[in-house]
Amino acid sequence: TKWVYTFGDGKAEGQAGMRELLGGKGANLAEMSNLGLPVPPGFTISTEVCTYYYAHGQSYPDDLAGQIEAALADVGAIAGKTFGDPANPLLVSVRSGARASMPGMMDTVLNLGLNDVTVEAIAQSSGDARFAYDSYRRFIQMYSDVVLEVGHHHFEDILEEYKDLRAYTLDTDLSADDWKTIVARYKETVQAELGRPFPQDPKDQLWGAIGAVFGSWMNPRANKYRELNGIPASWGTAVNVQAMVFGNLGETSATGVAFTRNPSTGEKELYGEFLINAQGEDVVAGIRTPQDITEQARKAAGSDRPSLEVAMPEAYAEFIRICGLLEKHYRDVQDVEFTIERGKLWMLQTRNGKRTAKAALKIAVELAAEGLITQEEAVARIEPQSLDQLLHPTIDPKAERKVLATGLPASPGAAGGEIVFDSDEAEAAKAAGRKVILVRIETSPEDIHGMHAAEGILTTRGGMTSHAAVVARGMGKPCVSGAGGLRVDYAAQTMTASGVTLKKGEWITIDGTTGQVMQGEIKMLEPELSGEFGTLMGWADKVRRMKIRANAETPLDARTARQFGAEGIGLSRTEHMFFEGERIVAVREMILADDEAGRRHALAKLLPMQRADFVELFTIMSGLPVTIRLLDPPLHEFLPHTDAEVAEVAAAMGASEEKLKRRAAELHEFNPMLGFRGCRLAIAYPEIAEMQARAIFEAAVEAAKSTGQPVIPEVMVPLVMGRPEFDIVRERILAMAAAVEKETGAKLEFQVGTMIELPRACLKADEIAETAEFFSFGTNDLTQTGLGISRDDAASFLGPYTAKGILPSDPFVTLDIEGVGELVKIGVERGRKVRPNIKLGICGEHGGDPASIAFCEQVGLDYVSCSPYRVPIARLAAAQAAL
Ligand code: PEP
Ligand code: MG
Repeated sequence: TKWVYTFGDGKAEGQAGMRELLGGKGANLAEMSNLGLPVPPGFTISTEVCTYYYAHGQSYPDDLAGQIEAALADVGAIAGKTFGDPANPLLVSVRSGARASMPGMMDTVLNLGLNDVTVEAIAQSSGDARFAYDSYRRFIQMYSDVVLEVGHHHFEDILEEYKDLRAYTLDTDLSADDWKTIVARYKETVQAELGRPFPQDPKDQLWGAIGAVFGSWMNPRANKYRELNGIPASWGTAVNVQAMVFGNLGETSATGVAFTRNPSTGEKELYGEFLINAQGEDVVAGIRTPQDITEQARKAAGSDRPSLEVAMPEAYAEFIRICGLLEKHYRDVQDVEFTIERGKLWMLQTRNGKRTAKAALKIAVELAAEGLITQEEAVARIEPQSLDQLLHPTIDPKAERKVLATGLPASPGAAGGEIVFDSDEAEAAKAAGRKVILVRIETSPEDIHGMHAAEGILTTRGGMTSHAAVVARGMGKPCVSGAGGLRVDYAAQTMTASGVTLKKGEWITIDGTTGQVMQGEIKMLEPELSGEFGTLMGWADKVRRMKIRANAETPLDARTARQFGAEGIGLSRTEHMFFEGERIVAVREMILADDEAGRRHALAKLLPMQRADFVELFTIMSGLPVTIRLLDPPLHEFLPHTDAEVAEVAAAMGASEEKLKRRAAELHEFNPMLGFRGCRLAIAYPEIAEMQARAIFEAAVEAAKSTGQPVIPEVMVPLVMGRPEFDIVRERILAMAAAVEKETGAKLEFQVGTMIELPRACLKADEIAETAEFFSFGTNDLTQTGLGISRDDAASFLGPYTAKGILPSDPFVTLDIEGVGELVKIGVERGRKVRPNIKLGICGEHGGDPASIAFCEQVGLDYVSCSPYRVPIARLAAAQAAL
């Protein structure tokens, strides 16, 4: 088997299409080599080795060592050096590279190949002994931390102590001899900690680093990242071994990172940072504040430190040329890493740049306008879920802002919450239903879970490409990074800025669009949807087949839904209209009444309220279809619980509290979700369905008159198990329609249909379709009854089911396609067979979930209905499903 793939000198054994085998980084290094770009030579050990490693008790294939030897020789030949050679040594970097980019998750070792002998050779060849020993001490520290598990702090302590002793303040104050002393102490520390010396043989070093990369694939933070991002552990990581180039060889050397377009706003401007005389991770680590790449950016930032454009014009011009070429080649924004060694530019990495949803939209729309991609490709490129970010609130411009500090606008949107300084605490607070802002000096991969739990993230250190910034943008969380004016004291659990000290638990607001950090809670505004949003949605609507409706019953929800492009209401849950104020008393009165007369008395109070609700709904949705579902109350949600509530209903009914309590006890159910709900209520008490039907039809007449538009309500019967129930309720509805027509003299147009939310209804769909004009699949209940898993109790035991892979994901979020999906398919087929033009939709939570929407497209539903805020997501997901 071929395990190792080389690249460099204008050619490569791999290419961009091989990311499964070579990982993203390896595949793109190969691709850049093939393009003739300046890439330091190297090789990639494939992900299959990682798979083999874990399948064989953490051991390697027999023929791997030979292939690595050969590849090292090839790399050395291109670089004109030999790995381990005492006179002319090749130094390498070792990095992980998974199929999907996992920022900060995996470990990196630089300067590998240095030892007591080769360091001297490097001092000779570079003519810079200080550089050589500085590199060596960095290598010992990095290697010890990542491979030998001797923590950073050991080395930091030694360095700090040494600097104190010599009264040095900066690392640059140390001479070659100083670093020599430090190196000796570092090695002593390793010996003391491990009982064996720091490995001197470069081959041992290399195998140690390779093992550490594969080992880190299963470390807890990598596991957590994969879990959060749905990346299977079986994919494995590749290892990239590459000849070192040095950005820290003096003032003509530099290292940096850049995006070919602004990843926050999507603006077409090169966006990046670099540091002169620095190595690898210095830029992302946020230890020194980086400089701007372009003059334009430098001026905009008001910086007096030179841009790359001015400091190194030739390397800059070459860099700009390559960025343009890469963007055209990959037809997308690139996120690149580069190093300049004594004036010569080297490209170390390229990948499609992570971006905010706002930037993604702008970039997709502009790339299509530039002719680089088609409109369909633009539609396909936006992750539907990411639109959520655009729907985030911003701070009301009129609100007063008590600004404590300003940092970098690292990830847009505003958020408020209680201050917490610790990621575990953030997670606990979120679980307890509280909103928090995670405040850290800087974040590391260990903070992923805290960042996830927080409303927003604030750091005092680090640039726009710091860990906090990159991860927050990926998560769509507001983030302010590098707020240098703010001091965080972890021990005291306080943060101080502008003379104000805030304690843990106090409220702050951050604005990730401006970088401001503010005291207290500030008024937020609902988002406005930008021009690109409309353009892309328009393109999506052109390719989409299914209609998108919303689940809405309040006027606010209906208006929001319409504004987001809903093409009707697919589910109006009338029981939700009954919870407020005096209504609940009347509803309780109705439920607790012990005869029909009592119920009719309560219903008479409810009729005008219900009618007014429907008039408003029909008016807001004028010209669009509205599905109204008859009452489907899990009874326990409506029963009075407290003595005060009982007293209130008793007074309204003129009955004794004693009697009411008895009646409530009689109505108590062991399994309310499988109890007296749905159409069972209409079967037992038809007068309730009659009242609702009357309210609907009277409202339709009234709204049609006032809007001048026809109103065509769709009356929906919930939770039927077969045709007989449906027919009984339908007869009542039809009779009521006839009565209202007679009373008003108006001609009504309407449909009567049903929800399909029981397995039996799916099986009996052919019979039901004989009289039902539409089906709406209630996949919440269909999942509950199909899997026999209580919707309300699932959370306590579902965790292990998804963790162990028994279920691929939470079936109440993403449709269980194999099981519940099969039931839906049966319902669709049997329904259509009897009534070919039957209208079919879905209105469970799954109607707003992209993977479930793809399934709905596949089985040919006519529409999906979801909560108003998910309407844009559903529009896009439906378009992608149709592509
Ligand atoms: C359903 O069961 O999927 C549904 C939409 O109804 P509800 O969630 O109101 O039970
Ligand atoms: Mg239901």
